Amino acid sequence: MSAREINVVVVGGSWAGVKAIRTLLNLVQSDYPNLRVTLVERRAHYFHITGAIRGMVDPSYAQRMCIPYDRMFSTAGIPNASHTFIQGTLAQAHGRFIDLESGQRIFFDYLILSTGSQYHSLPVVQSTHYHEAQELFASMRASIQRAKRILVVGGGAVGVGLCGEIADHYPDKTLTIGHNRKHLLNGDLADSFASSAEKKLTRMGVRLMLGETVMPSPNSPRNFVTPDALQVFTTKSGKTIECDLAIWTTGGRPETCYMSTLAPSNWERPLVDAVRNRIHVRPTLQLDDDLYPHIFAIGD
Ligand SMILES: Cc1cc2nc3c(=O)[nH]c(=O)nc-3n(C[C@H](O)[C@H](O)[C@H](O)COP(=O)(O)OP(=O)(O)OC[C@H]3O[C@@H](n4cnc5c(N)ncnc54)[C@H](O)[C@@H]3O)c2cc1C
Repeated sequence: MSAREINVVVVGGSWAGVKAIRTLLNLVQSDYPNLRVTLVERRAHYFHITGAIRGMVDPSYAQRMCIPYDRMFSTAGIPNASHTFIQGTLAQAHGRFIDLESGQRIFFDYLILSTGSQYHSLPVVQSTHYHEAQELFASMRASIQRAKRILVVGGGAVGVGLCGEIADHYPDKTLTIGHNRKHLLNGDLADSFASSAEKKLTRMGVRLMLGETVMPSPNSPRNFVTPDALQVFTTKSGKTIECDLAIWTTGGRPETCYMSTLAPSNWERPLVDAVRNRIHVRPTLQLDDDLYPHIFAIGD
């Protein structure tokens, strides 16, 4: 008699989700042939998100950043037959099934949520189709190419990396990075690394405005400023920065609104942190609630 199928649904196929799926598919090959793995992902392809800043200046790189999911798993040497890919967006999570925006309902024995963060100020990172991604990359590259004075707002890893890419490709542009802390990189990395990044960017001609909070302008919210038109941004302390293109790299935010349909066993201990939108998990990455030992949240 064959063992009952165990349905594992993974939502979100980026760094964390892909790692989980590869691990599960290896289990299918060995001890758990009855595992059925389903990936639900709103994109049609794996998007190499960490390469996005290079794609903003290098067209040949941008073209290689989207990998169709079927090819991705087959190149790992794992037969495609053992998993299913559904392109769709999780709308509501329930204890034993999920509902997609399309209306499709998918039942699971185990659910792995790896939906990461949303970067609303970087539309290309949000793109869902290959052609859409390429168009957005092309439009960003054109804006960067046209602009004479560029302001990057946010000196975390993405802002620092983007400044490096722009300064390297376009050494003649006037480039400023505005960051609300005293040092770049937010203390996520060693102080010596931050100070080395500051020195390198300065050597490349980038102007550092540290300890300055750049305010969004009424005409230009946290997104691209109209190129070829002078924009003046003000910092909280009253300094002004002139540019014709501003790029906001002020971080991502988890979007976990699909969790609102999952009731906690104790309303005083919600499943999601209301301020940061993060899902509370145990060290095992299971939801921090005895009702849901079969639901995990991983990654960002
Ligand atoms: C431009 C950029 C450069 C970066 N560079 C680096 C770097 O050099 N080094 C580094 O360590 N980190 C870097 N990061 C951060 C890094 O990308 C994240 O830490 C990492 O991607 C997190 O992986 P994740 O799988 O948890 O989530 P994400 O990569 O955010 O992936 C979440 C996935 O879930 C999908 N999804 C989301 N919601 C739904 C839904 N409701 N239904 C279905 N699918 C959904 C998304 O489409 C996406 O594919 C960078 C980030 C950016 C934006």
